Amino acid sequence: MGLHQAIVIGGGIGGLTAALALHRQGVPVTVHERAASLEPVGAGLALAPNALRALDRLGVGPRLRALATPHPAVGVRHPSGRWLARTSSAAVEAYFGDPIAAVARADVIAALVDALPEGTVRTDSPATLVTPGSTDEPAVVRTTDGEQPAGLVVAADGIRSTTRGLLLPQHPGPRYSGFTTWRAIVTPGRHPAAVGEVWGRGRLAGVVPLADGRVYVYGAALAPVGARAASEHAELQQLYGDWCAPVPQLFALAEPDRVLRNDVWELSAPLRAYHHGRVALLGDAAHAMCPFLGQGACQAIEDALVLASLLTPSTDLASPLPAYTAARLPRTTAVVTASRRIGALVALRTPAATLLRDTALTLAGLLPTRALLSRSTATYDWQPPALSGEV
Ligand SMILES: Cc1cc2nc3c(=O)[nH]c(=O)nc-3n(C[C@H](O)[C@H](O)[C@H](O)COP(=O)(O)OP(=O)(O)OC[C@H]3O[C@@H](n4cnc5c(N)ncnc54)[C@H](O)[C@@H]3O)c2cc1C
Repeated sequence: MGLHQAIVIGGGIGGLTAALALHRQGVPVTVHERAASLEPVGAGLALAPNALRALDRLGVGPRLRALATPHPAVGVRHPSGRWLARTSSAAVEAYFGDPIAAVARADVIAALVDALPEGTVRTDSPATLVTPGSTDEPAVVRTTDGEQPAGLVVAADGIRSTTRGLLLPQHPGPRYSGFTTWRAIVTPGRHPAAVGEVWGRGRLAGVVPLADGRVYVYGAALAPVGARAASEHAELQQLYGDWCAPVPQLFALAEPDRVLRNDVWELSAPLRAYHHGRVALLGDAAHAMCPFLGQGACQAIEDALVLASLLTPSTDLASPLPAYTAARLPRTTAVVTASRRIGALVALRTPAATLLRDTALTLAGLLPTRALLSRSTATYDWQPPALSGEV
C-alpha cells in the first residue's frame, strides 16, 4: 500500500519541479510545504539554458522564456564602470541556442504550481521522514494527517534538510561561505543601459532586467556570519554608494523593509549518494552551493527531471534511485566546485590580487565571443532526458 505514490517534502523550486516531473510520468504525488505560503517574493532568479530545456520538457518553459528580457550589454564591470568582459543576450542565445531567462522567483513558483493538479501542494504542512523504507517496505512520512506510506519520498527540504540529517547523521552539514547577500526587485521606470555584475574587493553587485520594467538588484559581500545592520538600506549605500550607475541608484529605490538579506551557506562536503532506501535527496538538500554561478535552482530542476525520467510507472518507484545518484552526483559536484571557484575570485580583497583578477577578466573579454562563451559550455550544454510518453 502506498508504493505507487510519491511524497515530496518541501515546496521550493526543487520540490515543485520534482512534483511536476513525477506527475508528467503518471505518478500520484503530494507536496508538503511547512510554510504557510510558497516562497517570499522580492528576488529574481537566472534560469540558464540547461534549466530552461528541462522546464521545456515539463511544458512550463515557454511561459518563463516569454519573460526573458534581452539586453545588448551583459557582462562584468569594475566598480568604476569599466567593462572587464562583455557580451550580449543575443550572443548567449545564438551560442547556446537558449537565453538566460531572468525571472522573478514568484513567476517560477506560479508556473510550476499552475501546471500541477489542484490540491497537489499542501502548505502549512510540515513533514518528517519516519522511515526511509526498503525494497520490501514503503517509506513512511509523518504529516499533520498522520503517517503516510510512499513508494518514493523526494526530500527537497533545502540546505538545512532534516531528512538529510536523519539519513546521514555523520555528514558535517552546511558551512558558512563567508558571504552575505542582499536582494530586491525595484521598478526604476526603464531598464538600465548596462546589466550584469560589478566586481569589487570582496564584494559584487548584480543588475538583472525583469519583465514589466522591473529590475532585480543584488549584492554579495564578505561579512561575519549573522551580522545585521540597523538599516540594511544604509549598509548598502555604505558598501556600494560610490560604485558605478545604476548600482547605488537601484539599491536606493528598494523599499527598506523589502530588501532580503541572507547569509550564504553551502554543503561543506559532497554526499556519498543522493538516495537512501526509498528517499531521493534533491536540490539544496543534496548539493547546496554558493550562488555565484546562478545554478542552485537550475541544478535542482535538472535533478527533478532526471529522477522522473528514470521512472517507469509500472515498476517500483525506488528501483531507479541508484541510477539517479550515478547521474546527478558527478554533475552537481562539478557545478558546486565551479561555483566555489568563482566565489574565491569575488572574495579577493587586496589591490594586487584584484588587479590580477581584473586583468585576467579583461584578457578573457578580448577573446572572440564564442571563445568567451565556451567557458560555460559544460554547465549550459546539458541536454534533458526525455520523459516516457514524449516523442
Ligand atoms: C542570493 C542567492 C541568489 C541565488 N540566485 C540563483 C540564481 O540566479 N539561479 C539559480 O539557479 N539559483 C540561485 N540561487 C540558489 C537557489 O536559490 C537555490 O539553490 C534553490 O532555491 C534551492 O531550491 P530547493 O527547492 O532545493 O530548496 P529551497 O528553496 O530551500 O526549498 C526548500 C523548501 O522546503 C521547505 N521545508 C523544509 N523543511 C520542511 C519540512 N520538514 N516539511 C515541509 N517543508 C519543509 C522549506 O520551507 C522550503 O520551502 C541563489 C541563492 C541565493 C542565496
